[in-house]
Amino acid sequence: MKPHTAIEKQIVALSESLAPIPPEMHTWAEKTIFLKWGVLSRGKFHCLDCGHAWKPESEKQSAKFTACSACKGKLKIHGCNQVHFKEIEYSAVVTCLSDFQIVRIVCSTKQMKKNCLPAYSHTEVMQHWINPKGEVRTLSRSTNVFSHAYDAWQYYSPLEIRPKDFQKSLKYRISPYRVYPRLKVLPVLKRNGFKTAFYDIAPQILLSSLLKDSIAETLIKSGQVSWLRYYLQSADQHIMRNWEAVKICLKKNYIVSDFGIWEDYMELLRWFKKDLNSALYVCPENLNFEHDKLVQRKQQLQRIKYLKKMRLEILEAQGLYAEQKKQFFGLCFTQAGITISVLEKISEFLEEGDSLKHCVFTNGYYHKKDSLILSAKSCNQSVETIELSLSRMEIIQCRGLKNKPSIHHKQILNLISKNLYQIRERMKKRKMPAVN
Ligand SMILES: [Zn+2]
Repeated sequence: MKPHTAIEKQIVALSESLAPIPPEMHTWAEKTIFLKWGVLSRGKFHCLDCGHAWKPESEKQSAKFTACSACKGKLKIHGCNQVHFKEIEYSAVVTCLSDFQIVRIVCSTKQMKKNCLPAYSHTEVMQHWINPKGEVRTLSRSTNVFSHAYDAWQYYSPLEIRPKDFQKSLKYRISPYRVYPRLKVLPVLKRNGFKTAFYDIAPQILLSSLLKDSIAETLIKSGQVSWLRYYLQSADQHIMRNWEAVKICLKKNYIVSDFGIWEDYMELLRWFKKDLNSALYVCPENLNFEHDKLVQRKQQLQRIKYLKKMRLEILEAQGLYAEQKKQFFGLCFTQAGITISVLEKISEFLEEGDSLKHCVFTNGYYHKKDSLILSAKSCNQSVETIELSLSRMEIIQCRGLKNKPSIHHKQILNLISKNLYQIRERMKKRKMPAVN
């Protein structure tokens, strides 16, 4: 896009005056950021770094690495026997201009072919411009929008200023494999704790954070890099929320084996209203053990609470259900070992659902005004549950274990049909006006 605001115009003008990446940097990248590769082809090892080829001493060809006998390079053996292939890596140059801290991202390609020296190419694909407040604006080349890869660079497109929300894109978070050691940083960064290391954090993220975020500054100054890395790299961290506890850990030099678990444990401590300012709680000797213990306790408490709520709900539903279906209570038909009776209690719906593994309770069939639910039993065991429509006086469904019919299915249907008149008679009772 074209620069519009004053700051965009300033950055674009400064960028044009920036010296090109020096050739020494490219030479350094070629030596530093790539692996050395070898392939095994037709019984010979080929060094793709110096072009040397030789016959292996032993027949064993399963080695992952081998040393080149000419250039002494430690070669990674490429799995498939390809004629040529390429490797792409990122590196960065960290420099300053005017008041800006700049991180220049270089994308390098190494093309390799059997019996040839590798060919390299280097393109500066992004420039992150960080002002003293830690605000970042990025110049970037375009990428191919039709590619599956988010970083399919169009190497011949110009470096253009990008909108502010470029920081939300995956490209912004590209972390170079190595940073060119000849660094130039703003003096304020040194004051804020930056020495020379990036700790595998993308330089644009580390440096901008150190300029605008006192948490990042405290973490880098504490020397406990794993906290800093977690803070700046985890999308799901809550260091700010747990800041008081983090400070206790830093002071005690407490090593966290798993930050996700530790933060989860902080939430549990909060849930149990424990003192988060106490090292006793926030720096447990065995984090996993304490975490699991609290998880279990919370689950127990939640279960008790749930059961209490369920009991209340059942009690409430019972009153309503009895009011609606009272006139059918006591109905019972028996024939040849099968007994069919009306469910009278909500707890019976629960038992029926549990023993036949269907949803008569969970789906709240006791709420259905037009339905009468009956249970068919053999030897005191539920075998099928029957739902009857009161308005149509017909069976809606009749199901056994896991909603399948039982061996008594026909007999049950028969028994119900024969006794429908009894249910109909009780319906009449319902329609009679109440007598005071
Ligand atoms: Zn070699």
